[in-house]
Amino acid sequence: MTRKKKHQQKYDVAIIGGGLSGLTMASMVGQAGINVVCIDGSDPTQTRKDDLRTTAISYGSHLILKEAGIWQKLKQEACPIKSIDIRDGSSPTLLNFDCKDLDKPAFGWIVDNSDLRQVLLDRVLALKTVDHIAPMQVLDLLHEDDVVRIVLKNGKSVQARLIIGADGRESFVRAWMDGPERRWDYHQCAVICNVVHEHPHHGKAVEHFWPDGPFAILPLNDDEEGNHRSAIVFTEHKKAHKASRMTLSDAAFNLALAARCPKEYGSIRISGRRQAWPLNFIHATSYIAPRVALIADAAHGMHPIAGQGLNMGFRDVKALAELLVAAHKKGQDLGQEHILNAYEAARRADNTIMLAATDGLVRLFSNDFPGLKVIRKAGLRLVGSVPPAKRFFSRYAMGL
Ligand SMILES: Cc1cc2nc3c(=O)[nH]c(=O)nc-3n(C[C@H](O)[C@H](O)[C@H](O)COP(=O)(O)OP(=O)(O)OC[C@H]3O[C@@H](n4cnc5c(N)ncnc54)[C@H](O)[C@@H]3O)c2cc1C
Repeated sequence: MTRKKKHQQKYDVAIIGGGLSGLTMASMVGQAGINVVCIDGSDPTQTRKDDLRTTAISYGSHLILKEAGIWQKLKQEACPIKSIDIRDGSSPTLLNFDCKDLDKPAFGWIVDNSDLRQVLLDRVLALKTVDHIAPMQVLDLLHEDDVVRIVLKNGKSVQARLIIGADGRESFVRAWMDGPERRWDYHQCAVICNVVHEHPHHGKAVEHFWPDGPFAILPLNDDEEGNHRSAIVFTEHKKAHKASRMTLSDAAFNLALAARCPKEYGSIRISGRRQAWPLNFIHATSYIAPRVALIADAAHGMHPIAGQGLNMGFRDVKALAELLVAAHKKGQDLGQEHILNAYEAARRADNTIMLAATDGLVRLFSNDFPGLKVIRKAGLRLVGSVPPAKRFFSRYAMGL
């Protein structure tokens, strides 16, 4: 169990969930002198091993991580995305984005979730203002005058003026708020793994739409032996009669990879394990309740088709942290209603637009209807041929 420093009874802020968003939040507010506890149900060393995913960190998110004092430690591990190719079924590249066109060093970076989590945890453990309690499940929240009491699984409790729910898609805090939510299953899962390939990727990310879901190749840094590496997201429909790619032998999986990867990668093979992540949509109708706010996946979960889930979560973190730091400087109670209302107002529209756009992309591209195929190809070509439209989409994807 990590429980650093003196375990107090009363905090300004309690963050429930020490995943990528909760730890970033703890760094942002902790470094401003706010007294924080971050409580996570999982064992940090185990969670790092259990999450084999990589994340595309947008240009905008890297600025947020810089502000949180994290990017400096992460940048050696992060592989820049210099260009993005969009393909549809058997068509050649329909749309290409190049960061040179935007005068930026990269669209974003691909990082291993385990590296990101480690750097975040180190940062949080180094901050005197932050207590980290894990593994420890939160079982209940009880309102008491001007604080909320947080009941822990070990029978103890702590109090905080503000609770931040950063406890992921099946958020306990969201369920406790008992508000309505929009939710559906995509009946797809993402099979993810890392691969090594013969030729360098030159910082290119490929997003290839297929009827059973998108197939993505994301650039990673070469390993210590100089092998060229990429991360794969192989989306597939969950169909009872169809075997998942999770059940294939490595040899059969390599053949499936070779059939999907562009020839310029040369020979390609899986390195390490595969993991399957079920894909769904969740949006809380309200992000706030008295002395409670939801951030990131606890507030909204989206399909990874556009690699934006955590990037949107980081934008929640930045918006709420800025409001809290400003209120802290004025000596205000951080659980006040006006702060929470300002947070909801700052984030709802941006999240709603991205959730709707992402859901629309899934529906538009995860099918084989001939009419839709023609429309989407024409749409992609149109975006590619109208520079302001291309620039708009590039900047949005970069989180700018
Ligand atoms: C296949 C896949 C690929 C993705 N790729 C990208 C990408 O390229 N770019 C991008 O931006 N996003 C991507 N995402 C989305 C991204 O992974 C998520 O948005 C992000 O992990 C959410 O982080 P979080 O901290 O909000 O939640 P989580 O990572 O789910 O963390 C929640 C934490 O809360 C803890 N917890 C839960 N309940 C309790 C409780 N009662 N008490 C205490 N602790 C509790 C859990 O132990 C956990 O540690 C992808 C998602 C998938 C599935």
